[in-house]
Amino acid sequence: MKITDIRIHVLKSPLAEPFAFSQGWVRQRSATLVEVLTDDGLAGWGEAFAQGLEPPEIAAAAIEHALKPLLLGADPRHTEVLWHRMYHATRDYGRKGSVVAALSAVDIALWDLTGKAANAPIHQLLGGAFRTRVQPYATGFYRTRGQGEAARLADEALRHHEAGFRLMKVKLGYGVDDDIECMAAIHRAIEGRGVTLMIDTNHAYGRAEALRLGRALADFDLRWYEEPVVPEDLAGYAELRRQLPMPIAGGENEHTLYGFRELFAAGAVDVAQPDVGSCGGITAMRHIVALAQAHGVAVNPHVWGSAVAQAASLQVIAALPVAHHSLFAQQPVLEYDRSSHPFRQQLITRPIGLQDGWVHIPDGPGLGIEVDRAVVERYRA
Ligand code: CA
Repeated sequence: MKITDIRIHVLKSPLAEPFAFSQGWVRQRSATLVEVLTDDGLAGWGEAFAQGLEPPEIAAAAIEHALKPLLLGADPRHTEVLWHRMYHATRDYGRKGSVVAALSAVDIALWDLTGKAANAPIHQLLGGAFRTRVQPYATGFYRTRGQGEAARLADEALRHHEAGFRLMKVKLGYGVDDDIECMAAIHRAIEGRGVTLMIDTNHAYGRAEALRLGRALADFDLRWYEEPVVPEDLAGYAELRRQLPMPIAGGENEHTLYGFRELFAAGAVDVAQPDVGSCGGITAMRHIVALAQAHGVAVNPHVWGSAVAQAASLQVIAALPVAHHSLFAQQPVLEYDRSSHPFRQQLITRPIGLQDGWVHIPDGPGLGIEVDRAVVERYRA
């Protein structure tokens, strides 16, 4: 089997109602999808993570100009060899950000092809499934005005609960006092309903403010506190980890085993959150999981993007060992963004959804999904 072509699809869709996370206003959805074609007629799909404010064209250009020439004619099943070929070729201008996201997209497509060629789901190729279903957590609580939305957010928590979610992650980072007010309102609304909360400030604060927020929420039994400070401040992460009672999480803006090595060496996180569309793909996820295991750090992938990235994340989660084994060990959970996103529900023929509060992991060949090409054309930028 040989790679004959690589096609890149940049999709965009304006949002009916823009929303804010701590770093800015999101006005459109975008995605960089990649399709790797072979001489035996199989096509593999991948996706580069596009952070809310990241132009999807950067990863698209990296795939077209830097990665595609390295792959034409290669056997797509040689995932480890091709990962290193792509990483070495882009090292001097890559290593992080959109270039590694581009590499990730291609790597996911190669795994999809490998699975399709073997007629096996990717999790089987990764050594088997530890689980066939995963509990999702609702990511939401974005702002539509900015500050002073505590009542609306409390109501949103009830909507997630009604939809079957028992885990919820609240976006914070809009000012510590406003954050505390919103969390108090959400906590009051869901109290006694068996809901576990997490928070995510998207690195809105410096150490002092991040600490003040964490201390104010010390009694909320948070599952984790995500991206409390900027990803460069590993000493800040470690300090917060020492001073706060809740687990500290981060890593969606880190890449490859080399980047995560620094995170682990600094003792920065309890929970590492590589994104399969950004950390270097399924191959890099494998490296990072082994490294995390050796450092006693749990991995719980960050999940964003379209249905392609969701499907790749589900395959990875199926094959993810628990970090700390016991009879009743804490299992990884699936980030399930509840904001409007046409590339999730429409892009594949059987969209990923909840059944009795759980998401079942597809067991078809490769990613286990079928991309609807008409939808790709509809949203093509
Ligand atoms: Ca996050």
